[in-house]
Amino acid sequence: MKKGKKLIVANWKMNPGTAAEARALFLATRRAASEARRVSVTVCPPFPFLSLFSRLSNGVISLGSQDAFWRNGGPHTGEVSPEMLKDIGVTISMVGHSERRARWETDDIVSRKAQAVVREGLSVLVCIGERARDENGDFFGVLREQIKATFSKVQRRFLSDVVIAYEPLWAIGKNWRDSASPSVVRETAIFIRKVMADMFGDEGVTVPILYGGSVGPENAGALLRDGDIAGFLIGHESLDAEAFAWIIRIANDA
Ligand code: PEP
Repeated sequence: MKKGKKLIVANWKMNPGTAAEARALFLATRRAASEARRVSVTVCPPFPFLSLFSRLSNGVISLGSQDAFWRNGGPHTGEVSPEMLKDIGVTISMVGHSERRARWETDDIVSRKAQAVVREGLSVLVCIGERARDENGDFFGVLREQIKATFSKVQRRFLSDVVIAYEPLWAIGKNWRDSASPSVVRETAIFIRKVMADMFGDEGVTVPILYGGSVGPENAGALLRDGDIAGFLIGHESLDAEAFAWIIRIANDA
């Protein structure tokens, strides 16, 4: 991930179903990315497609994984280590996505994974976000505790390899109209920076913050203009090659 550029990360989740479809989507995304010099585009496909794409990325697209295990080697059936990911050309691993946290991942597991990823020399995209908002603002406390626990095992010296994705659960997988507004994103980004500064000092403030949650071509421009963010993590709209190309162009012109 080249910091200084807008960062646009595609989270394909468990899609598409075949290598042929994945290849076509990847090539269309690569085309759009090659025309956007001011944007750094990362694609996080399902694990089986990573090796295929490491031969196709041509330096235009960075490869990301949707998860990584918290150590290299050992009796961990079904897991994929940071070492393996690095070896096939992955440069960033996402950890702590809410869809994984909802099933079994604790803050502690996410923190161990984040530390293992950066120790391997990869960047890490750490997902955080509140489940719901309440009128009293209690969710800020929930978010603060989540950030503190999620970063408890991450060493300060690796902070330059960390990116945060702020993904409020209430905004994920909806229509762009139900996404967080630019002012909500801005306010929360300021809050996240403050918590990171409390934990890590001035360096904590330099960690780029992406927003994710129902971003589409319709709201991308306003979020980049007024949301105080470095870019986006994009779910369902990244599976639509045209919509995703449009978002990349908007980010390039922002
Ligand atoms: C996500 O789940 O990471 C995400 C951003 O999803 P969507 O864009 O579909 O809301």
